[in-house]
Amino acid sequence: MEINEVINLLCTQIPNENILMNEPMKNHTSFKIGGPADLFVMPTDCTQLVSAVQLCNAHNIPYYIVGNGSNLLIDDKGFRGVIIQLYKNLSDIEIEDTVITADSGALLSKIANVAFEHGLAGFEFAQGIPGTLGGAVAMNAGAYGGEIQDVIIDAQVIDQKGQKITLSKEDLALGYRTSIIQKNKYIVLKARLLLSRGSKTAISEIMKDLAGRRRDKQPLEKPSAGSTFKRPEGYFAGKLIMDAGLRGYQIGGAMVSTKHCGFVVSDGTATFKDVKALIDHIQLTVKEKFNVDLQPEIKIISNQG
Ligand SMILES: Cc1cc2nc3c(=O)[nH]c(=O)nc-3n(C[C@H](O)[C@H](O)[C@H](O)COP(=O)(O)OP(=O)(O)OC[C@H]3O[C@@H](n4cnc5c(N)ncnc54)[C@H](O)[C@@H]3O)c2cc1C
Repeated sequence: MEINEVINLLCTQIPNENILMNEPMKNHTSFKIGGPADLFVMPTDCTQLVSAVQLCNAHNIPYYIVGNGSNLLIDDKGFRGVIIQLYKNLSDIEIEDTVITADSGALLSKIANVAFEHGLAGFEFAQGIPGTLGGAVAMNAGAYGGEIQDVIIDAQVIDQKGQKITLSKEDLALGYRTSIIQKNKYIVLKARLLLSRGSKTAISEIMKDLAGRRRDKQPLEKPSAGSTFKRPEGYFAGKLIMDAGLRGYQIGGAMVSTKHCGFVVSDGTATFKDVKALIDHIQLTVKEKFNVDLQPEIKIISNQG
């Protein structure tokens, strides 16, 4: 099917202004890397999201769900198919007693601030993670001893056929940076989080402390997708990379951060190829020196061979 036909069909379901053609993905990723997506769709409600997914499935058009793009490395050649972005439009947050129900596109920082405003504790760990709730559930995001699996009650998702189902915490099979969402290609619509009553002063203190620790230790001023590699059992990726002598190692515009070796950062000019070559080089060097396999935590999106 021609891209124009797909657009015509999508336009019957989604407002025209929410469908962009040849949209540069570098504008939607924290790495500031990524070529044009054939179509970039921003559904404003669940019905539109389901329609877009069903349309792609019916016509065998590749699609990829993006939250805030803070864990993605996208090819400079772009994405042939449809990128469906959930950040911004699907972002309602509701509170009932100690339960927060938020849409998948709600930013974690926003949810953490709402929790603080209502004197709800337990979500402070997520405040500095620059993703959406949907991305965080998919990745079981975590920091400073907290993880999504510690607070989630359940999530409403759509399956590949476009059916809405509710998955309990157990159904979500959350593990270290994994979930059933990734394995089964579900799409998170919303999730419920169980927090506890706490003092606003204490919550604010914890959030300030964690923000300070992030600022001190992480290269927040440079484009990146966070920790590039998962933590290998029994080791820390950043320490292995530093001990391998790769601190500051550079390929093109991509560099091992001198502030935190677990981050590959861009100097603003890095291409997909630069970052990918640096990741490969790090993996090879760490394997040779320490016989440890580093697995990328970031999602590498390249669908053009
Ligand atoms: C400076 C920096 C610091 C970071 N610190 C941390 C940290 O401390 N802890 C941590 O865990 N991560 C961290 N990250 C990584 C990232 O922020 C998290 O993985 C975050 O949860 C990703 O959310 P996102 O909305 O940006 O997802 P995206 O990057 O857009 O997508 C990530 C994955 O989730 C999928 N996805 C997104 N939304 C949905 C949805 N609604 N339904 C189904 N699948 C979906 C995507 O398809 C993709 O596979 C950091 C990143 C940066 C840049």
